[in-house]
Amino acid sequence: MNETLAFDRTLVEPEGRAIAVSSLVRRIVAPNGGPFTFTGTCTYLIGQSELAVVDPGPENDVHFDALVDAIGASTVSAILVTHTHKDHSPLARRLQALTGAPILGCAPHFAARPLGEGETNRLDASADRDYRPDRILAAGEVIEGKGFTLEAVPTPGHTMNHLSFALAEENALFSGDHVMAWSTSIVAPPDGSMGAYMASLEVLMARSETVYWPGHGGPVMEPARFVRGLLHHRRMREATITERVQAGDRFIPLIVERLYSGLDPKLKRAAALSVFAHLEDLVVRGLVQTAGEARLDGEYWVG
Ligand SMILES: [Zn+2]
Repeated sequence: MNETLAFDRTLVEPEGRAIAVSSLVRRIVAPNGGPFTFTGTCTYLIGQSELAVVDPGPENDVHFDALVDAIGASTVSAILVTHTHKDHSPLARRLQALTGAPILGCAPHFAARPLGEGETNRLDASADRDYRPDRILAAGEVIEGKGFTLEAVPTPGHTMNHLSFALAEENALFSGDHVMAWSTSIVAPPDGSMGAYMASLEVLMARSETVYWPGHGGPVMEPARFVRGLLHHRRMREATITERVQAGDRFIPLIVERLYSGLDPKLKRAAALSVFAHLEDLVVRGLVQTAGEARLDGEYWVG
């Protein structure tokens, strides 16, 4: 079956200034577009005379100036961070130095776990290890400001510390890199976990927000339908990987070879990590076997 997900690749270009996307929300797109960031990281300003800033963005002078400009004479009362990737959290420190607002949000970056032989010291280069929140928000914790009410919604999976934020006044969710309209999320160990990612999608299925504002690209409209599609897409992938293992492809490089024939060698490690993320989850659920813990260089079988 040829299963497809409809992605909205509507361009959301950096304009060097804040654009109003709803009556309470403005967005600034950072000039850091690329294969993993689409047109750039979206920073959101919520409120009017008092503001909460979601994901200040990468360490970038142009983006910082645009942010300062957009804040103008308003007060920033909270700096919120979805996760500690370098395209989302680093500018929180400069913004705090300027405004004195507390950095609230996700936990600091988790130490990487070993994935296999020779992999022990290979740490995820995309992590912002200097991120220090003033307070880590608990599930359901509410941040209130003049005109806005934001609730912390833990959504681990893309990274284990990933948080989303629900804006009650507009029935909207700032979904970070967990759910995006332009592409599926990268779910790759050691930072990411497929089991957690799927569980976080189920958490969102039980909620009622009607629009998501992601960390990259335009909004996710009809999010319930979209999230159901994401769950279906990953389950199809999981079924294909289980079939390969069942057919006798017992090692990750072999499965990658079969599933991604003709893949650019530069993307092979990413593909291997994605297959590994699924295998790790299948092992935990007892659907695929391996000796001990799942590893990048492990052997896998069914039954
Ligand atoms: Zn990310």
